[in-house]
Amino acid sequence: MHIQPLLAGALRKRPLVIAGPCSAEREEQVMATARALAAGGRTDIFRVGVWKPRTRPGRFEGAGEVALPWVARAAKETGIPAAIEIANPKHLELALKHQIHLFWLGARTVVNPFMVQELADALKGLEVAVMVKNPVNPDINLWMGALERLYKAGITRLAAVHRGFSHFESAPLRNKPFWEIPIALKRRVRNLPVITDPSHICGQRALLREVAQKAMDLEMDGVMIETHINPDEALTDARQQVTPEALHALLDSLTIRKVAMAESFEQQVQKWRGIIDEKDQELLNVLSSRLAAVAEIGKLKKDHHVTILQIDRWNQTVERYLEEAVKFGINPDFIKRMLWLLHEESIRLQEDIFREE
Ligand code: PEP
Ligand code: MN
Repeated sequence: MHIQPLLAGALRKRPLVIAGPCSAEREEQVMATARALAAGGRTDIFRVGVWKPRTRPGRFEGAGEVALPWVARAAKETGIPAAIEIANPKHLELALKHQIHLFWLGARTVVNPFMVQELADALKGLEVAVMVKNPVNPDINLWMGALERLYKAGITRLAAVHRGFSHFESAPLRNKPFWEIPIALKRRVRNLPVITDPSHICGQRALLREVAQKAMDLEMDGVMIETHINPDEALTDARQQVTPEALHALLDSLTIRKVAMAESFEQQVQKWRGIIDEKDQELLNVLSSRLAAVAEIGKLKKDHHVTILQIDRWNQTVERYLEEAVKFGINPDFIKRMLWLLHEESIRLQEDIFREE
């Protein structure tokens, strides 16, 4: 798969920051959150849940269609592109009417290849970008399958979002990360940005930083963190949402280590090339002084009517060189060939001197 950047120009930034409320509740809440995030200057994508997949009925299920103009307005006013979750072609159709072109498929959608295929068919031919959350169950093939269905529909601006996996045991984390799964996905699909969603992994604020740091240390490409202007009053996922200020403080506290990739590889090559250039210069200096010494010997030999080739001396030189070459771990055949060239040049130089009047 030839994955294209999710947002032109922004992807090489690491971490890519996706922030915004779990749910759009009221226009003022969406706008205030977006404005505070924009003021922080750290958010690349504004996420907002318009239709919420709730585990049990009878709870707030997102404001729905009425929230779309709020989302569009937030994106327009702040200049931060907005992303919403779509779970069926109807959601997509409505979102497009409001110029929303950035989407994510939720964990409960990705488990179902029928739903994913329906969405892929509806997305065919559209200039959109899609983030794919991991399925609720720890199955890398379902995750891959959803990405492939979208890719086959011509959607090449893709990213994966790691939000952890449902588990039965009671644990501090809401969803178990199984980090080996996003790591394997990164290995399988080159260039696919994998973004960690610490909010849904943790389920509570106190643990977000630790998981976000771990994501950075495991070379994940970004974070998606639910952010609400008044988290305690949030109608969904209140315990895990943070204020924009808390998000900015969390981001500031992260240690971002360099990813070993093309850029640092290039730097290393440059470093060694510098050393080679320096050594070549030293080699030329050494050769030039060695040849100058040879010329001096040539003059002496000429004055004293001594032959150019002093076979014993030459044998000693070759032997000494070969012994040293072994100590230095240099291939003796290379040393022999190099000495032969050096010797040839020494003789030629001395012949010139002998010919001089
Ligand atoms: C969300 O991002 O708000 C959401 C519903 O996520 P998930 O599909 O990962 O549960
Ligand atoms: Mn949520």
